[in-house]
Amino acid sequence: MRFDTVPMPPAVHGRPRDTRGYPVPAITPWEGDAPQFALTDYGRSAECARMRLCSVCNTVMPRGTVWRVVGAAESAAIGEALAAGRPYRNLAPTLEGPGHRACMLYASMVCPYLARPNARRGLSADQPDELTGHVVRGAVRGATGAVVGFGDYEYAVTESRVLFRFLDVVEFLPHDDADEHLAQLRAELDRLAGN
Ligand SMILES: [Zn+2]
Repeated sequence: MRFDTVPMPPAVHGRPRDTRGYPVPAITPWEGDAPQFALTDYGRSAECARMRLCSVCNTVMPRGTVWRVVGAAESAAIGEALAAGRPYRNLAPTLEGPGHRACMLYASMVCPYLARPNARRGLSADQPDELTGHVVRGAVRGATGAVVGFGDYEYAVTESRVLFRFLDVVEFLPHDDADEHLAQLRAELDRLAGN
């Protein structure tokens, strides 16, 4: 969906915009006045990890569940674990930090690097994020990704990158197309507005 047709969480309104008016996530690095959407900024990411800030809107996440958007492989692995009644533990660390539920539903629909199947994010153009690459045999059909709530996260700030690991799946919203989350996002924004 075009980003300007998706309802925007209030916390995202305050983000800087690119020339198209597209809100720039907190962890996105800038080169001059051009946001580098495909990349993850080390310093911004470390600050989000340490201060429990949402990687999209840069405001504090309450204690408890945090959300992120996962790609097809991780979505399939989570789906298989849940279907088998096994706990899912994301053993492969990722460069992608967590965020609010509304922010991640929103990002899944408007962020080309999250919403596009096989999209990749990395530290730089020649350093793709191979850390998230799960090898999944017999992938579950019908999901190009998911918005997932996790009970908690751990992080490590190394010399060159910030790594996140997510524990305890508490909500699993798989999608074939992230536009399917529109109703969920509207309901979440209503809930936040106290309606
Ligand atoms: Zn947020």
